[in-house]
Amino acid sequence: METIEPSNRCIHCDFSKNLRRHDKRLRRVRDMNLIHKYLHLLIHVKRWRCQNCKKLFCKPLSSVPSGSHQTYRLQEHIFEQCRATTISYAGR
Ligand SMILES: [Zn+2]
Repeated sequence: METIEPSNRCIHCDFSKNLRRHDKRLRRVRDMNLIHKYLHLLIHVKRWRCQNCKKLFCKPLSSVPSGSHQTYRLQEHIFEQCRATTISYAGR
């Protein structure tokens, strides 16, 4: 079963035609909710094969940096915590 989604673009060569669906993977991503409790998200990611450069790619997720296992908001939260810790240590 192969489908073509015209809105997709190859991240390697920017080719937007002849993209074939390769498979579907379940991606596990760490996130946190509003009460700062860590949780895991399971996201279905479609993988595509570019017929131009023959490379595989998956569409980037808007909430997860590519290649990361954490969402943007979790990364920001960790960054803020590190900064707060540094400031409190420096104040002693
Ligand atoms: Zn390509």
